[in-house]
Amino acid sequence: MEVDWFSLSAVILLLCTAPFLVFFFVMVCDQYQCSVSQPLVELYSGEATLRSIWDKAPSFTWTAAQIYTVWVSFQVVLYMCVPDITHKFLPGYAGGVQDGARTPAGLINKYEINGLQSWLITHALWYANAQYFHWFSPTIIFDNWIPLLWCTNILGYAVSTFAFVKAYLFPTNAEDCKFTGNVFYNYMMGIEFNPRIGKWFDFKLFFNGRPGIVAWTLINLSYAAKQQELYGYVTNSMILVNVLQAIYVLDFFWNEAWYLKTIDICHDHFGWYLGWGDCVWLPFLYTLQGLYLVYNPVQLSTAHAAAVLLLGLVGYYVFRSTNHQKDLFRRTEGKCSIWGEKPTFIECAYRSGDGGLHHSKLMTSGFWGVARHLNYTGDLMGSLAYCAACGFGHIHPYFYIVYMTILLVHRCVRDEHRCSSKYGKDWKRYTDAVPYRLLPGIF
Ligand code: NDP
Repeated sequence: MEVDWFSLSAVILLLCTAPFLVFFFVMVCDQYQCSVSQPLVELYSGEATLRSIWDKAPSFTWTAAQIYTVWVSFQVVLYMCVPDITHKFLPGYAGGVQDGARTPAGLINKYEINGLQSWLITHALWYANAQYFHWFSPTIIFDNWIPLLWCTNILGYAVSTFAFVKAYLFPTNAEDCKFTGNVFYNYMMGIEFNPRIGKWFDFKLFFNGRPGIVAWTLINLSYAAKQQELYGYVTNSMILVNVLQAIYVLDFFWNEAWYLKTIDICHDHFGWYLGWGDCVWLPFLYTLQGLYLVYNPVQLSTAHAAAVLLLGLVGYYVFRSTNHQKDLFRRTEGKCSIWGEKPTFIECAYRSGDGGLHHSKLMTSGFWGVARHLNYTGDLMGSLAYCAACGFGHIHPYFYIVYMTILLVHRCVRDEHRCSSKYGKDWKRYTDAVPYRLLPGIF
């Protein structure tokens, strides 16, 4: 496969700028009270230099390295050594050994789904420590935040480089490797589809879900603890951010088996984009709102807080219901009820890599009849709610909604391009029946 110059430039630009972008957003809170413009103004006027900003930033510490090593090792132990038991007593929860989707080479991988259990154990320990044991301060994550950034970068680059080399030397499944003619593209977008060590250590599932997403709620709790320590109270904005993001994280783990069927696992290869992204980008940039609120403790009016809560909950409802409708429709092959009626759909045919003819269905009722990706729209509403919880003092916490919009619009275009090549004229019939992507009547 050849890589076009546009994709290649985008890949190189991202590889060169993303680590600095993360540093910038964290550093401006540490040095400029989260003002994004202040450092730029100071740089422009000569009051600060890149060197002086860099010198003021905390550097790597062995304490942070120890914390991070313990953290990642603990998550590996929970992932590898504690088989799921929660599915035995939580009705409706699909945990334990589950099948993934068929890979391009026709393989169906097995996964041990125990993310919810790992999350529960980790948070129970966090709570027990804060309440009874006092082994470490609940502000530990915030207090080591920039030193931890260096440690996460080390792991992010190490795992991406390891996956890259592994793909050449000892791939898990050589038939599922995708080599392009460009080394940067291979490094960034990944070569192996499902790299594994041994039978069960799956890179994608581990790095996507833990240590990043399990940490997300702990990072937010650490920010709340820091507000308490600094000001003697926790603001309603901080509580809102903690609650809304915890719903999203818990939803992710509750539906981890469903996640095996999403684009990340079904279509993306494992490279820097996923490896570094999960280790660095996700924990640092998805938690910017809580970080901002430590430096700028915004107390919202009741009306503002209620509006944010409503936006967050409605967004979550649209996101979850849309995903649920597709899952139900696909699992039952259309023999289900959507909004109280039998779903309507378009029958489609496609050919797999080996030339075999397969059939599939694209639903045209429920949320999937309103627009082609309302799950993304719901996700964006929730993301906007996190940002709006921070008030309107600075643009810093709004980075998230800008990023999510770019991510999901790009994902939507990428997915539709893939579906169009897969289903051909049947995809055209679907887009004629449901003409809008994210916002009916607009886009
Ligand atoms: P989707 O769950 O929307 O899956 C898209 C696939 O669904 C298509 O490739 C096609 O696959 C199938 N499909 C498309 N239209 C229909 C239809 N009408 N009926 C039935 N099947 C259809 O995409 P993602 O995997 O990207 O997203 C999953 C969720 O994860 C989303 O809610 C998203 O918001 C969220 N997400 C969040 C991120 C974050 O960072 N917070 C990042 C990425 C995703 P097929 O080939 O099987 O037909």
